[in-house]
Amino acid sequence: MACKDRNNLPVGLLWRRVYEVTGGGWQRRGAAWVTDVYAYHVSLACNHCAQPICVEVCPAGAIHQRDDGIVLLDSQKCIGCRYCEWACPYGAPQYDKEAGYMTKCDFCVELIDQGLPPACVAACPVRALEFGPREELEARYGPLEPVYPLPENDLTDPALVLTPHVASTQSLPPPPPTAAAPVQLGLFGRTTTRSDLETSDDTLYRPRTPQKAKASKRQGQEKRGEVANWEEVGGE
Ligand code: SF4
Ligand code: SF4
Repeated sequence: MACKDRNNLPVGLLWRRVYEVTGGGWQRRGAAWVTDVYAYHVSLACNHCAQPICVEVCPAGAIHQRDDGIVLLDSQKCIGCRYCEWACPYGAPQYDKEAGYMTKCDFCVELIDQGLPPACVAACPVRALEFGPREELEARYGPLEPVYPLPENDLTDPALVLTPHVASTQSLPPPPPTAAAPVQLGLFGRTTTRSDLETSDDTLYRPRTPQKAKASKRQGQEKRGEVANWEEVGGE
């Protein structure tokens, strides 16, 4: 809510989203039934990636990366093609239908330039969010650990450090498919790879809407029994 308030975001646009991941059930151990139910939250916005694929794919040059790593989107230059929305594996670019252009977390750059923390960091009541130079955070907390439902780190090298909830390391889904199979990419379950994007001639191609892809991924995972549930909580 601090993010929505600070950036005056309309209903439906969420630059920072909180995902609730739940799963587990009852397991038979001898004569007894035991439960391994778990739940944890992942708070996620734009990760201001070191290899921002959104910058690479934007045909209008509307997204650029500052020298300090912050990735900014100039809505005035945006032509509304939504290609960055499809390419970003974190679902960070958010399309404003009313305005007809893309929007994205700007890391509260005006506050940062004044030496102040971003609104989300300042508002978190339990200090679960921190910001600072990536090297300092990695030195303090270690490199980014794989946490479901985040995609593989090497897609965009996100400037993100997470201390995994203990439940997330106990119940990770099976490893990704082998080389021959398509790699599940991103929070919205697109089955494409970075090389697909790099070799694609059609810069406006979008295989599925995020909503359909999300539903399809979830159905597949539930069918295979890999992961129980994950969904956005909060916001509107
Ligand atoms: S999280 Fe997505 S929008 Fe943000 S810098 Fe990375 S690729 Fe770009
Ligand atoms: S929608 Fe994204 S990729 Fe398309 S012009 Fe706007 S910022 Fe660039």
